[in-house]
Amino acid sequence: MKLQNKIALITGGGRGIGRAIGLKFAGEGAQVILAARSVDQVKQAASEISRATSARVLPLVCDVTEVASVEWLFKSVKEYFDRGPDIMVNNAGIAESAPLIKTDDEHWNRHLAVNLSGTFYCMRAALPEMIELGWGRIINVASIAGKIGGPYIAAYSASKHGVLGLTRSAALEVAAKGITVNAICPGYVDTEMTTRGIENITKKTRLSADEAMDSIKKMSPQNRIIEPEEVASVALLLASDEGRGINGQAINVDGGTVMF
Ligand code: NAD
Repeated sequence: MKLQNKIALITGGGRGIGRAIGLKFAGEGAQVILAARSVDQVKQAASEISRATSARVLPLVCDVTEVASVEWLFKSVKEYFDRGPDIMVNNAGIAESAPLIKTDDEHWNRHLAVNLSGTFYCMRAALPEMIELGWGRIINVASIAGKIGGPYIAAYSASKHGVLGLTRSAALEVAAKGITVNAICPGYVDTEMTTRGIENITKKTRLSADEAMDSIKKMSPQNRIIEPEEVASVALLLASDEGRGINGQAINVDGGTVMF
């Protein structure tokens, strides 16, 4: 059990990558808090993970774009577990596409608010107690779009580039305090986010859903998309003691699409 006695807080934990990380961490002995906006989804994910692993899994509703909601989340964790999280996974995210000249203020601000500011608010809330205790892990789920650009994803890509800047700066600030701060940069992953992306492609092009999926797969030298569990396995390494030497990194899980 690699995460025995650890408390892990995962945002966007109701489905997809966040849920897979919750399941993986609970299976390694962590007590897990899944936080997301949809109460039904997060409750269901928590009870399924709890049943599968016998771990304590707490579902909490939080909108990471609202400082008050993040403060309430951390207060609730403290009340429930008597301390803050040892492992903070900033996974909540949104991805919508639009040509840059049609990216309105709302689209732009929404991406920065969820993907970048939400990550910042949770890091700011989690770090003080980690510093006090001399142990902590911050894992930010970014994207390969945080390293390279792409057409029609300016807001998403800019927000994820921001997450990498945040990750690297924080990593240096806390490097000598027993804390690591890293990012994971997945390529396309088999989750609702990708399903919605495919729906969007079929609406805007003449491609069928299968053809759209094939075009996405072809972006990877492995000609496939990534499973959420593969991202969760990297998160486990970063969260465990074995990963203590990995700090300030942005690790691609993309089959080799991006090589830096
Ligand atoms: P998903 O859409 O299935 O899940 C996203 C989760 O984030 C949901 O639980 C949603 O409720 C939550 N969320 C969104 N806005 C929120 C907010 N304001 N407050 C709290 N929670 C909020 O997508 P996923 O694929 O599981 O994505 C997880 C992360 O992985 C995201 O940060 C995404 O950018 C990143 N990512 C995904 C892919 C992919 O292909 N699916 C690729 C690279 C990176």
